[in-house]
Amino acid sequence: MNLIKIFLDIFAPKYCFSCFKKGKYFCFEHLNVLNSFFCPVCNLRFPAVEIKKITCKNCRKKTYLDGIFSIFLLDENFEKLIYAYKYKYYYDLVNEFSEYLNNVLDENFKYLFKNFIFVPIPSYRTKINERGFDHIKLILENSKFKYKEILKKIKNTKPQAKSNLKERKENLIGAFGINEKFKDEIKNLKTVVIFDDIKTTGSTLNEAAKVLKNNGIKNVFALTLAIKL
Ligand SMILES: [Zn+2]
Ligand SMILES: [Zn+2]
Repeated sequence: MNLIKIFLDIFAPKYCFSCFKKGKYFCFEHLNVLNSFFCPVCNLRFPAVEIKKITCKNCRKKTYLDGIFSIFLLDENFEKLIYAYKYKYYYDLVNEFSEYLNNVLDENFKYLFKNFIFVPIPSYRTKINERGFDHIKLILENSKFKYKEILKKIKNTKPQAKSNLKERKENLIGAFGINEKFKDEIKNLKTVVIFDDIKTTGSTLNEAAKVLKNNGIKNVFALTLAIKL
């Protein structure tokens, strides 16, 4: 048993946050599974029959995203869960998140998008150092999804929770750039799916989509673990 494991057993014993059942940090049956596409602006749920442009015609002027897929509803239980994973060292949850992602890949994405690249929302270096890990990348690393870190964070943004919508948007302008390593490769990319943990206002995803579209990528979708409706 390594030190980290011993540390986790003491400081993060396995009890469900919600029903206190022993053995797991969280019973995933407490979550509200959506597994659906949504318009990123008005959150209209989209019947996933044929996926071309999910964002409604009227909403397209307001976003760079062509659609968003979300696995769970962002409710109180999910908030507790993601907080525990990000800030309270419940690293083991990564396996559960990755498993849910794998299911999405097997059941939905495989048929909808023939060729696409998965791109994680990047975190600023100092934040990763504070937390000790890149919580978004870690989920992808543990999943079957192939991903490329095409985006990089070039500006350290203020914590989003404390600002209003207008401040959020201003705060995010110029937050992302293209990783030099992929400058040539992205010329041949047609479809990209951005991955983030949650979607609330969608400002972060939209800013990331803007950078990708301005660099010639035609279809930009997003996949999040949870969405606020
Ligand atoms: Zn439970
Ligand atoms: Zn809409």
